[in-house]
Amino acid sequence: MNRYFIFFDQLVAKKISPKFLRASSRLRFICALLCLTLSCFSYAGTDQPTGGSYGLALDPVPTVNFVFLTPANTQQQQAKDIIQHSSILATIKQLSQTRYIFAPSLNIVFGSAKGPNFDSTKGQIQIPYQYIDQLLEHVSKTGAYPTQQQRYQATTDALLLTLLHEIGHAYILDRAIPVLGNSETTVDNFVVILLLNDIHRGDDIAINASRLFSTQALNNSNLRNNTFIQQHSLSQQRYQHILCLVYGSNPARYQRLFDSFPLAQRQQQQRQCNGIYSTTYQGWLYYLDN
Ligand SMILES: [Zn+2]
Repeated sequence: MNRYFIFFDQLVAKKISPKFLRASSRLRFICALLCLTLSCFSYAGTDQPTGGSYGLALDPVPTVNFVFLTPANTQQQQAKDIIQHSSILATIKQLSQTRYIFAPSLNIVFGSAKGPNFDSTKGQIQIPYQYIDQLLEHVSKTGAYPTQQQRYQATTDALLLTLLHEIGHAYILDRAIPVLGNSETTVDNFVVILLLNDIHRGDDIAINASRLFSTQALNNSNLRNNTFIQQHSLSQQRYQHILCLVYGSNPARYQRLFDSFPLAQRQQQQRQCNGIYSTTYQGWLYYLDN
């Protein structure tokens, strides 16, 4: 090994010519450029399937994969169509390149028998087609969405909330993010921070989809028997916390959000929520990719 050092010493001792030094630094520059180019191509010029299509050159590769199991009947086919015609797959994919990057990538399976849930042993999120049908039925029963387009929109908004929630569980496990307190509230925070900062109409989705999952709205719904809903229906406390984050993100814009609350409660929310939002946002900013 010492031979190399001796060789180097001899080179220095012989006073390397400035011409040689210039040539060698030019060579180093060309090598660095070549390495940079090659690393770009190995990252972007992928031959890895990205949900049925192929990544465009220089586009980062999504780190979630969508798997659609074959629908067993026309109702399940309808559920599959609703998902595929919505914008939520593109949203989830885009965030998987920028905010929650999974390596190895995370599989989201539609058409599973169980769920919605995150199966940590298989490393996949499972969503049954039946769940989408139940969401649509629940949305329709509220009577708040007169047109079919609005009902489909509300259904996919609620599905987006569900997917982000399960992605939150997966991300916390993947990055070993410390959960101080209730893990469901930690995931609620993850979802709302992403909705408000990264997703088009995210504030509407946070407000309206959360209302659909509130225990009050689920009282007479078939969704109540779903295991995900049994575990995740939003108690009044969790629902109010979500509204508090939305309000706190921009009190001037959402000043009417607590209009239906008694005055004392409204004033308390208005005092606290800005600080609660800031702390939550700063906390998640530390753990989210950007
Ligand atoms: Zn959960």
